Amino acid sequence: MSLNVPNPMNAMIPRTIFSADHEDFRRTARRFFEEELAPHRDKWEEQQHIDRSLWNKAGELGLLCPTMPEEYGGSGVDRLYSVILMEEQARAGDSASGFSLHSDIVANYLNNFGSEEMKKEWLPKMCSGEAVGAIAMTEPGTGSDLQAVRTSAIADGDDYIVNGSKIFITNGYLCDIAVVVVKTGDPAKGAESVSLLLVEANREGFSKGRPLKKVGMKGQDTCELFFDNVRVPKSNLIGTEGMGFIMLMKELAWERLMIAIMCASGCESVLAHTLAYVRDRKVFGKPVAAYQNTKYKLAELRSETQIARVFVDRCIEEQLKGTLQVDAAAAAKYWVSDLISKVVDECVQLHGGYGFMTEYPVAQAYIDTRANRIYGGTNEIMKELISRTF
Ligand SMILES: Cc1cc2nc3c(=O)[nH]c(=O)nc-3n(C[C@H](O)[C@H](O)[C@H](O)COP(=O)(O)OP(=O)(O)OC[C@H]3O[C@@H](n4cnc5c(N)ncnc54)[C@H](O)[C@@H]3O)c2cc1C
Repeated sequence: MSLNVPNPMNAMIPRTIFSADHEDFRRTARRFFEEELAPHRDKWEEQQHIDRSLWNKAGELGLLCPTMPEEYGGSGVDRLYSVILMEEQARAGDSASGFSLHSDIVANYLNNFGSEEMKKEWLPKMCSGEAVGAIAMTEPGTGSDLQAVRTSAIADGDDYIVNGSKIFITNGYLCDIAVVVVKTGDPAKGAESVSLLLVEANREGFSKGRPLKKVGMKGQDTCELFFDNVRVPKSNLIGTEGMGFIMLMKELAWERLMIAIMCASGCESVLAHTLAYVRDRKVFGKPVAAYQNTKYKLAELRSETQIARVFVDRCIEEQLKGTLQVDAAAAAKYWVSDLISKVVDECVQLHGGYGFMTEYPVAQAYIDTRANRIYGGTNEIMKELISRTF
């Protein structure tokens, strides 16, 4: 997809959160997503995952786990570098790579709560791309109600025996390790029985389903994971038994903000493509852009996108200070993911029939962005969380 379009979104309120060093990094990230990911969309869709070698390439360029400490192979930089990677992925319209989940969710659990041995063993491999990480929470029987997971890890000497299955797992097909949400305690109990366990994909009894067939994000390997009497050493426990839910809660605000960051950038990208299209396309002798309906529509969408951008940037600042509140992150996640659904729908309309053709970025965005309202906690759950803070 051609990205050589003007971005009409920068003019209203300038962004202030990035330094010159961040912008240098952005150039590397932009080139990577433009050259290595976006042009090969058809191939990723056909095979339902990106080439494994791209993980190593991203690692070589310092595009994986940049915030991890240098002693574990990262660059030890602030989370604005992660923000840039997410923005550039969304800008390029790449929905196939699961880098941000690997770098900014899975690696964080190991770094924040894992043992020293675990960090030394896995973080350097995750930074280089030698190991791909997944996080396995959702099960066929439960998603939103995470306390109701049934995958069990029963103590047996120095090991746990893991049984159960997970579904919709991003990076599931290519993963080398998964942070698995299990019940180590009484399965009838809720949060106090939940633990996080690192499970290596090559353990006997651990198997992967074929990547699932999805409405959009078809190049992303999302699959089922099965655990059939998998013996896992107790040293693979992340944190302590029964603390899984608390660890998950600590990172969830950031994980929700990540979705808002990608959606804000996605809105800007779709608007840029649409502006270029309506200026070029002529109907009844003049450009689509010349009609009042088009101008007002784009003015509304541009305003709302700008409002989203300012709120998301403020949330990023709060995150950097360590003061991002659960309700702010939930608001960002639900509002901006709702917004991108509206933006892509209106922009498809402005493209006419071409907007329904998957070779157009707007059509790709239409199918890819829908999942944002579902994963990372559904938007209904976000409203539930906000309502609890009244
Ligand atoms: C592309 C994709 C990638 C994903 N990647 C991952 C991953 O890497 N790891 C992972 O663990 N999971 C992943 N998921 C799973 C995702 O997080 C879940 O689908 C999501 O949390 C919703 O759970 P569910 O599908 O079981 O829906 P359900 O929980 O069954 O919800 C069904 C409906 O009920 C509503 N609902 C539920 N509870 C309430 C309530 N209390 N009040 C009001 N309404 C409610 C929901 O909002 C929804 O509309 C992914 C999903 C997708 C689509």
